[in-house]
Amino acid sequence: MSKLLELSNLSYSYHSLQGETLALKDISFTVEEGEFVAIVGPSGCGKTTLLSVIAGLLTPEEGSVRLANSDDKQELPNIGYMLQKDHLFEWLSIYKNVTLGLEMHHLMTPEKKAYIDRLLREYGLDAFREKRPSELSGGMKQRAALIRTLALEPSLLLLDEPFSALDFQTRLMVADDISKLIRSAGKTMIIITHDLGEAISLADKIIVLSKRPATVARIIPVSLSLEDDSPLAPRNAPEYQPLFNELWEVLSNEEAL
Ligand code: ADP
Ligand code: MG
Repeated sequence: MSKLLELSNLSYSYHSLQGETLALKDISFTVEEGEFVAIVGPSGCGKTTLLSVIAGLLTPEEGSVRLANSDDKQELPNIGYMLQKDHLFEWLSIYKNVTLGLEMHHLMTPEKKAYIDRLLREYGLDAFREKRPSELSGGMKQRAALIRTLALEPSLLLLDEPFSALDFQTRLMVADDISKLIRSAGKTMIIITHDLGEAISLADKIIVLSKRPATVARIIPVSLSLEDDSPLAPRNAPEYQPLFNELWEVLSNEEAL
């Protein structure tokens, strides 16, 4: 595997009339190509800020974000950023919603059309392409938002609490399903989640951030012995509970004032 992303000594503050808010402080870590990284940390610590810096929406004040060319590609990896809310437009059909990015970038080629058709079929949304977002369940809307993100074929996916609107059972299923789809497509993923079980289940590596200003409190590699590939298998792995306890302990120290 080669290195896809390298953050070195990254710091970021927001400036407003009220003053300065230091959100990120001296953050360094790397992400390998094809790796799934989960980011957890106390509420308000700077997780969304960190994703926005990686996405290039915010410029770091100190330090650097380096995206590497993979060996066989000339171009930098393009980044898909899926926000916490699905942000589908109610006045557009599901099909129009998922193809909006492609239309805007004038990229709606026959190949892309075929790719979208395939994703809609795989995600069980084929029969809903002419429906409006409000006619879909929460899980289906989340899948539609993901298709829209995948449509531009990003090699790096940034997901900010993508499943937080779903009830527990749907969340387990959708998270499992979507992560398998992203893995089989060979993409790299960075996901923010509040759910420690979800972080352990999905990630190869968990980055625990401290309370604000976010620093890297710990980096925990995850390797699970899975009995089968069911959504619950990671939670039944023998390594699950020790990892959960470790995460709990690091975060408890951070949340304590
Ligand atoms: P998280 O995603 O971990 O909950 P955020 O990255 O959204 O945290 O925010 C980190 C800190 O930066 C918070 O204290 C928040 O109030 C502050 N913050 C976020 N966005 C802005 C902004 N646009 N202007 C000023 N402060 C902000
Ligand atoms: Mg956030």
